[in-house]
Amino acid sequence: MSEREYKCPKDGNTLVLMQETEKIGSTAKITIYYKCQVCGYRKDIERLEVTRGEKGLIVKKFLY
Ligand SMILES: [Zn+2]
Repeated sequence: MSEREYKCPKDGNTLVLMQETEKIGSTAKITIYYKCQVCGYRKDIERLEVTRGEKGLIVKKFLY
C-alpha cells in the first residue's frame, strides 16, 4: 500500500485510513478504506477474505 495522502474530493480534508472486519462463519472479510471524518466520504482501497481451511489460512485479496 502506498503512503500517498488522500484528500476528500468534497471538502479537501485529509482522509483517515480505517479498517472494518466482518466475520461470516469461518471467513473474515476485512475492508480497508479511507474515510473523511468531516463529511463521511469513504473510498475503499482493498478487501481481504481470510478463510480458515484444512491446510491453514487462505487469503484472497481484492483491489478496488
Ligand atoms: Zn469530506
